[in-house]
Amino acid sequence: MFIRFDLENKPKVEQAADGGLQVTVLDHILGLPVVLRPDLLTLASAVVPNPTEELGELFKVSRNAEGFFNEAHAKLRPVDFASDGIFLAGLAHYPKPIDESIAQAKAAAGRAATFLAQDMVQVGGVVAVVDPEKCAVCLTCVRTCPFNVPVIDYKVDAAYIDPAKCQGCGVCVSECPGKAIQLKHFTDSQILAQELALAAG
Ligand code: SF4
Ligand code: SF4
Repeated sequence: MFIRFDLENKPKVEQAADGGLQVTVLDHILGLPVVLRPDLLTLASAVVPNPTEELGELFKVSRNAEGFFNEAHAKLRPVDFASDGIFLAGLAHYPKPIDESIAQAKAAAGRAATFLAQDMVQVGGVVAVVDPEKCAVCLTCVRTCPFNVPVIDYKVDAAYIDPAKCQGCGVCVSECPGKAIQLKHFTDSQILAQELALAAG
């Protein structure tokens, strides 16, 4: 049973007339004081995360408002991050008991093992590709990619996007001022053709 209280009306702990414990708390829904007579009173310590902003930025993984890390999907990918190959377990996720942390750590290790057990990892085909002839080395894609994928290849003086790292989000494609980047399977001409077909009914 949980009873919420506000900071103006904190629970009051007293010694009852019979010598036992008495806790009085104002239930904010009932608007009435609730009197409890516990055998034992234990204070739960708050669990607060270490500063995680820098780590989250580094690995491009999302955090909630309190600073705990978010899993990719609570039901379908509970120990994965949205970024491939990075897994989550324990209090970095949210305050939880040790048995739950251990179960989650085993799940994360199992997920990591599925990657490590493969001789070769296949990646998706929807990736961005730079045309070096059109690239002006303006660094827009380097700055805007949410996954820090594009780099400048000084051998050819153009941006390079590692297809194994690209998540296919298309941000760099839309931002490149020189139209030097195309997203495979979603090229500009394919998108335009689709739009024209839709407009023509
Ligand atoms: S945004 Fe386009 S032009 Fe600028 S560096 Fe990237 S690929 Fe080259
Ligand atoms: S498509 Fe998205 S993930 Fe891939 S390089 Fe461009 S911005 Fe980065």
